[in-house]
Amino acid sequence: MAGEFLVDLHTHSTASDGTMSPTELMRAAKNAGLSAIALTDHDTGNGLAEAAAEAEKLGVRFVPGIEISADFPAPGQLHILGHFIDPDSAGLKKMSSILLESRNERNPKIIARLNELGCRISMEQVEAIAREGVAAGKAVVIGRPHIAEALMRAGCVASVRQAFDVYLGTTGAAYFPKERLTPRQAIECIHEAGGLATIAHAVHLRCDNPAHLQTVVSNLAEAGMDGIEVWHCDHDARHVEMTLALSKRYNLLPTGGSDFHGRPKPDVALGRGRDNVRVPAEVLDRLEARWKERQLAMNEHE
Ligand code: AMP
Ligand code: FE
Ligand code: FE
Ligand code: ZN
Repeated sequence: MAGEFLVDLHTHSTASDGTMSPTELMRAAKNAGLSAIALTDHDTGNGLAEAAAEAEKLGVRFVPGIEISADFPAPGQLHILGHFIDPDSAGLKKMSSILLESRNERNPKIIARLNELGCRISMEQVEAIAREGVAAGKAVVIGRPHIAEALMRAGCVASVRQAFDVYLGTTGAAYFPKERLTPRQAIECIHEAGGLATIAHAVHLRCDNPAHLQTVVSNLAEAGMDGIEVWHCDHDARHVEMTLALSKRYNLLPTGGSDFHGRPKPDVALGRGRDNVRVPAEVLDRLEARWKERQLAMNEHE
């Protein structure tokens, strides 16, 4: 729609498994005509200061965020987004370092298994891929997409999708789980950092049917969730309809974003997803209003 202000509340940078630096991502948001963007890297707030500084220069509204993986029965995955978090929160930093340690234990196991299966890649190669475009001395979170890229470069697979299907996905031959927070712990950590917690991409919960999804969402709302992602690159019209209905039923704020990663998801565009994402700025306004209410209530409590 002409004149409509669009936002993207779910994106990744080189601080986790995206391929654009926080600065490049903010410039891409400006070029895409977005009025606001949230950076929500996996398990880390390390890209937030750089992104905030660049967004301010460009006049793009910026929301500091994070995406945390929480415990959930396989083959489903529960990712929890945090928006309006304080990147300097001590609790959040502690949680990040625990999750990073667990990745540091898992990644070599995945690579050892891949080597057993005949895929000759090394931890050094994966680290080098994760560090591409990242300034020296900056921390990065190394994840399976970096391993997928190494597999592609070694000629073991033809695509990221194939890497996950055959090796890295929950049913893949080289899958190892990593330590996770319980949903309640993740929500509390986000709340302690002053943020709002929302259920990311409900489609990846892989619930058997709408009734099961409703139970899961109801329990998560009970556990303190503030919102649910409605618009997402992997949500079709039916998922949008279901999550929007659940947002109303359980008084959860609807959010949305592309889950842009850059090269690992070449068909997903910033602000647009697979041409199925258009998040109006009013969604962010409502989120911000709830956040401000929360801040006020917390200050009155002190
Ligand atoms: P990790 O953080 O190491 O557990 O890797 C999880 C990330 O891998 C997700 O956030 C996605 O970016 C990516 N991912 C997970 N499953 C797939 C898949 N089937 N195809 C492509 N990317 C995936
Ligand atoms: Fe990712
Ligand atoms: Fe996710
Ligand atoms: Zn994401």
